[in-house]
Parts: sequence; structure tokens; C-alpha cells
Amino acid sequence: MGTSHVIIGDGIAGSSAAETIREADPAADITVLTEEGEALYNRILIKEFAKGKMPEGPISIHQPDWYRERDIELRLNTMVTRVDTDEQVIHTHEEEAIEYDTLLVATGGTPAQLPVENSDADGIHHFWTFEDARAIEEHADNADTGVIVGAGLLGIDLAAICGAQDVSAHYLMRGNTWWRYALSEDGAEIMHNAMREQDVTPVFESGVDRFEVDADGHVTGVVDPNGERYDADFVGVAIGLDFNTEFLRGSGIELTDNGAIVTDEQMRTNVENVYAAGDVTYFYDTILGEQAQNGAWGSAKEQGSIAATNMVRDTGEDVEEATFHWVSSYSITHFDFPFLSFGHPTIGDDFVERKYSETEWRRVVLKDGQVIGGVLIGDLAPQTSLKRLAREGVDVSDRTDALLEQTIDVEKFTPPEAEQ
Ligand SMILES: Cc1cc2nc3c(=O)[nH]c(=O)nc-3n(C[C@H](O)[C@H](O)[C@H](O)COP(=O)(O)OP(=O)(O)OC[C@H]3O[C@@H](n4cnc5c(N)ncnc54)[C@H](O)[C@@H]3O)c2cc1C
Repeated sequence: MGTSHVIIGDGIAGSSAAETIREADPAADITVLTEEGEALYNRILIKEFAKGKMPEGPISIHQPDWYRERDIELRLNTMVTRVDTDEQVIHTHEEEAIEYDTLLVATGGTPAQLPVENSDADGIHHFWTFEDARAIEEHADNADTGVIVGAGLLGIDLAAICGAQDVSAHYLMRGNTWWRYALSEDGAEIMHNAMREQDVTPVFESGVDRFEVDADGHVTGVVDPNGERYDADFVGVAIGLDFNTEFLRGSGIELTDNGAIVTDEQMRTNVENVYAAGDVTYFYDTILGEQAQNGAWGSAKEQGSIAATNMVRDTGEDVEEATFHWVSSYSITHFDFPFLSFGHPTIGDDFVERKYSETEWRRVVLKDGQVIGGVLIGDLAPQTSLKRLAREGVDVSDRTDALLEQTIDVEKFTPPEAEQ
């Protein structure tokens, strides 16, 4: 028997870890367990399916054959219920015990529910899995009126689904702009206008006081805290994630107060031989110089691969230690103009921003004089330079105007001593 690597979660973090382990150690035993009934699919694309614009086929990434060909044991429909880190054993919902030499937890999150009356009524959707997308697609196709709640990157997907499926919708937001932590009114107004063009009406200083339902328990409307009522036979809620770590309580693995798994930059937890990767982590971000969280596909994939390399190394294979040093990006393609956020656009101690036209805007966020994130609307070309400045930790504090030039010349920021 080879070394036993066990991976909980077959999202992009877990799956990329399995692939990396197999490449580095052809003799290892690899087991991947997932609660879902299907192997890895492209979570980013399920919104296009829900819009009714894409068939199922291209969304799947791996068929079960992919795992068989690589001698990776895939367990679908298997929920891990407990981890015993002393005995190095995990337990499944079917009372099965599986021993591990190394364990990777890549369990992501589950959408949070609104703590209000009727929040689990029929017709109220949360959006994370392909199964959710199938239900949303079918329902939105038949709905006339909708309400969306949650003014962030997933909420806007639900709004765009309403737009694409001809559901006349209200988008209820708590503040006075969409994604108020990352956009000013100038930037957000571009997004609001694009929503309005798709018959999605932003409603500010609003939210949900309660849902109204009919005699069959199907949602019929939403009442906001101001007493305004909005008709809705379709509702989409995207107010954040609860991390899937309940099963780790009592395992000794360090969790944050909100349930994320604390790791270092090599994706190691505080418990020997236990690693974590993807959305579920609160990792040490070498670019920020502090612990951070990320909810992006590319970053989850990279973390899975970094964790896997270190899992293989820690069991004696001759590979170099890997460190997570990554600027994530997240793009939106729902409108006539492109949109991209990168890095950590909602934190930092300073920012510069500019509106260039009715559909072009940019914000660059700084911490200690270095670029740590931003948002680009309309023109994504500067992303390469901005991400490079962030990755390389260049001090831009005395040239911040140059971050807003139409074309950014990275060399302008290179410190004189580095040019020699
Ligand atoms: C609709 C939508 C659109 C998105 N769009 C973008 C985008 O445009 N760009 C971008 O960068 N990111 C996007 N994201 C975010 C991106 O998909 C996630 O950051 C990424 O998928 C996280 O991967 P992960 O492997 O960490 O977690 P997940 O993909 O959540 O995978 C975790 C897996 O673990 C399983 N699991 C959980 N608990 C257990 C357990 N106890 N036992 C067994 N299995 C368990 C879950 O069922 C799940 O399959 C989007 C997400 C959604 C939902």
C-alpha cells in the first residue's frame, strides 16, 4: 500500500489537489469524498446554465472515468461527519472509517439563509450547486416577477439570471449602492444602469423583513423593512456563505469564529498532517502580510495544488515546498462591458479611483503603499500590470496617480536600486 491521502470535497480545490498528488506520487492511494452526486463541474458556469444559455455538457469538468484512469477513488454522495485527528481517521455518514496519512479539507461553504419569516419557502433559491442551478433555471423560465437579495458578486448573478429569463425583478440592497464595500457611487451607477436595462430595478436602503407565501407555501412577495411590498414568484438570496466545517468541531483543528479553517501560506492547519484549501480557508496571505479569505475559483485551484505538493513532500517525496502567493481575480460577463475584481478590493487603508466614461471606471486599493486589490469596469487591460504590482509588493505610494493612467507602465514604479 502507498501513502494514503484523503481529500474531503471534490470542488476545484479538492480536485486539483488530487491531480497534483497523482502527478507527484504515482504510487499513492488517493481518496476523494464529496457530498454531491456528481464529480467536479465548473461552478463559475452554472450561472450561464441557469440563464438558459448553456447546455449541461460543457459545465462538467470531470467524469468518473477521469478518476478511474488516474487510480483516484472517488466517493460521490458521501458526507464526512467526523474527523479524529489523533487516530488519523475520518468517518462518513454511513459509519465508514477511512484512515489517512495526510488529510485535505476542501469543503467550501453553503449559502446562508436569511433569518426571517418563511425564508425556506418554495420559490426562494440559494445558489451554489449545479442542482441549485437546475432548479433556478426551471423556475425562472416560468416566473414573471422576482426579488433578489444580497448586493455582492453572487447576487448580481441571480439578478442577471432574472434579466436573461425575462423575470421582471427588484434587487433589494441594504446600502445605497451595489457592492458598497468595493465600489463608490460612480462605479456602482454603471452597474445599476446595466441592471435597469435588463428590467432589474435596484432598490436602495432596503432588505427583507419577511416573505409572503400562498396557501401552498410558495413565495408571493417580499416586504422590506420600510414596509414596501414587492411581488415575487421567484426569489434569489445570496447573503454569504456558512463554511462547511461543523464536522470538524472537537477535532482540534483551529477554526475562526465564523468557522473558516486557519492555515499558513503552505496550507497547513495547526494539526499535523491536516491541510485545508479553497473557500473554506482563512490563510496567511503573503501579499497582504496577514490572514485573509478568498472566494474565487483560481485561488481555490492554486491552494489545492499548493496543499497537495506539501502533503506529498511531508510524506517523504522529493518535491520542493510550495507557498501560496497569488492575486485572485473574479470577472463578471453579464453586461455589455466587462467587470473584474482582483485581490482584496474590500480591505486596505487607502484607494484611488477614476470614472473614465459612462461604462468605464477603476478603483485601485492600497495597503501600506502597495497595491492589494481593485475593481475594473469597462477596460480590463490594466489588470496585468496591477496584479503584477500586487504580486511583487512594489511600493507605489508616491506614484498613485499613475495607477489611474489609461495604460499602466509597471516600469515607472520600479525602485531605482532595482534597476541597476
Ligand atoms: C454561481 C457561482 C458563480 C461563481 N462565479 C465565480 C466567478 O465568476 N469567478 C470566480 O473566481 N469564482 C466564482 N465563484 C466562486 C467559485 O466557484 C468558488 O470560489 C470555488 O468554486 C471554491 O472552490 P472550493 O473547491 O473551495 O469549494 P466548493 O466548490 O464549494 O467545493 C466544496 C465541495 O465540498 C463538498 N463538501 C462540503 N462538506 C462536505 C462534507 N462534510 N463531506 C463531503 N463533502 C463535503 C461540497 O459538497 C462541495 O462539493 C462562483 C460561485 C458560484 C456558486
